[in-house]
Amino acid sequence: MNGKTLQGMGEFEAIERMVARLSTALPDGWVGIGDDTAVMPSPDGGSILLTIDTMVAGVDFWPDTPADYPGFKIITASVSDIAAMGGTPTAAVVSIVCPRSTKQEWLEALYDGIAEAAKRFEVPVVGGDTSVGTKTVITVAMTGACAPPAPILRSGARAGDIVCVTGSLGGATGGLRIIGIERTLKKPEADYGQPGMRLLERHLKPEARLGAGRALAECGATAMIDISDGLVADVGHICERSGVGMTIDASAVPIDPDLEAVGDRISHDVLVTALTGGEDFELAATLPPERFDEAAARVGTTGTTLTHVGVVEGQTSADNLVRIIREGKELEISLAGWVHFRDEQNGD
Ligand code: ADP
Ligand code: MG
Repeated sequence: MNGKTLQGMGEFEAIERMVARLSTALPDGWVGIGDDTAVMPSPDGGSILLTIDTMVAGVDFWPDTPADYPGFKIITASVSDIAAMGGTPTAAVVSIVCPRSTKQEWLEALYDGIAEAAKRFEVPVVGGDTSVGTKTVITVAMTGACAPPAPILRSGARAGDIVCVTGSLGGATGGLRIIGIERTLKKPEADYGQPGMRLLERHLKPEARLGAGRALAECGATAMIDISDGLVADVGHICERSGVGMTIDASAVPIDPDLEAVGDRISHDVLVTALTGGEDFELAATLPPERFDEAAARVGTTGTTLTHVGVVEGQTSADNLVRIIREGKELEISLAGWVHFRDEQNGD
């Protein structure tokens, strides 16, 4: 036995290896693995969307987090994937695996959070499954619906389109960092004042940009994704699927104002956090430049903003699909959060 482990492969290689064993043949009009949701045509001329998300105690949330938070967030994660297609959620089913010793209060609190999010995003929970295991695992599968011009896939970006993001970035990572600092250094959250409380909320109880996703679809978005892995990684997924490159102007990236307020105390570089931090559940979209003003106005009516952060280029080298420019220089950013400058002219 000399096979790699999951740790050795990493998530993306593991998914590639697993799905390679599946049949790739899908009926006409279906979209399978590789987008935010699967897509199946519906008889009314629209599409049915299907997605699933899992959270594991000790991996995706601290086991002692009040359970209504992971309950709310697991629903948000699936709603956000449906938002990224320009769709509307229609129904959810929930699977719970937890140890036999799990307390009644914990399970009830979990469902308070699930119920709150289900109400917020108007998606009924219509079933599920319950079993026991050594760790707590929460899974949500969700269906959605959309009508043309949705669904907006990751594969439609074209050279000359602009790149936009909703809202602001880095806040969820800021909240996660505050929790980490509290736990290791025993510093109470009140130290960071109201901005700190809002960052915690962003991490623990995120919004999904449903209205903005629909608005962007209707305003000509050519590709869209929700920002769950971090802006640079996620627009990279659009590049891979669309066969294009992108240039992102770092100075245009909307940094979460609360992260900026406390950033020097919790983060070595708020810009890097905004570029690479995950789980903000904002949307990144590409669209023809002439549609931006209309899209920004429409997104503005949904309670958030739309910011133009970059441009789609023709195919670039496969190892440098997303270039980040600040003041004429290219920033080299590893997704682990390291950064150094490189001169754009001579590339060294
Ligand atoms: P997202 O961040 O939008 O939820 P992921 O990064 O989890 O997407 O997954 C990327 C793609 O791989 C999706 O299309 C998803 O459906 C697919 N995928 C992930 N895990 C598996 C798996 N175990 N089997 C089949 N497809 C998978
Ligand atoms: Mg997604």
